[in-house]
Amino acid sequence: MIKVSSIKQHMYCPLKLYHQIHLDSKENKDYQLAIEIKKLKIDVQDLIQKNMRKVKKEMTISEIECMLSENIDQYIKGTVQSIKTMNLGLESSQINEIIENAYFSIKMTSLKTKQAMTILDKNAFEVIDMFFPNSMYSYLIKDKGLDIIGICDKIEINDGRYYPILLKSGTPPLKGVWDQDAIELAAYALLIEEEFATDVYVGFVDYEKIGDRRPVVMDVDLRKSYFNIIREVKEIIENKKKPDVKKSPKKCEKCEYKDICLKN
Ligand code: SF4
Repeated sequence: MIKVSSIKQHMYCPLKLYHQIHLDSKENKDYQLAIEIKKLKIDVQDLIQKNMRKVKKEMTISEIECMLSENIDQYIKGTVQSIKTMNLGLESSQINEIIENAYFSIKMTSLKTKQAMTILDKNAFEVIDMFFPNSMYSYLIKDKGLDIIGICDKIEINDGRYYPILLKSGTPPLKGVWDQDAIELAAYALLIEEEFATDVYVGFVDYEKIGDRRPVVMDVDLRKSYFNIIREVKEIIENKKKPDVKKSPKKCEKCEYKDICLKN
């Protein structure tokens, strides 16, 4: 089965996907690391949600922040230590990013919670569903017919409708979402439709750096683009077809395969 992560990699650069699949086993390590980081972020959100139940409407914003931060630091440090023992190549910049995103999320949630409690004159446990709707996290989902498998960061369920959510720590575009994020969401929308026998009309990308949620409509054009891309991915993975790519200095500079590509 094709992993959704391979589709993402293809969207970054098809040749990178080719190298990863056919040249080395680094892909598995990167994939594993990405999963561990996602799990940690989700656990942090769970802790924030748990802490929120204790927030009272008379609290100031800094008291709310303090309450939401309870045990977060220790949890991140403990989990980072155990990820390090797995030797997956966790870098200090990634650790800093996890910590920054967690505290940014706490700040944003504190402000929004205070606002909601003041307007509605309620304590936090009564407004918690506004911020944390019924959700499934890190949901492993696969389908033989579609021939894809992936772990959806979050699936929110509201009034019987399912919404795939991606949690992204990278820089967002000025408007809308990156193409690769839209395609990834389309993959999960199709998987959710098969798994839960439902229709998915919209998904969301949460850009954690700026605390912004952006919608993606699952229209016919996006679905068509998804199927075109999956065809190319299969050609690379299953038929070992080496793709022709236009090199992009911006992407290649950061790519671990630049020596191989330059040599060729
Ligand atoms: S160096 Fe550039 S062209 Fe080569 S795999 Fe990386 S991103 Fe693609």
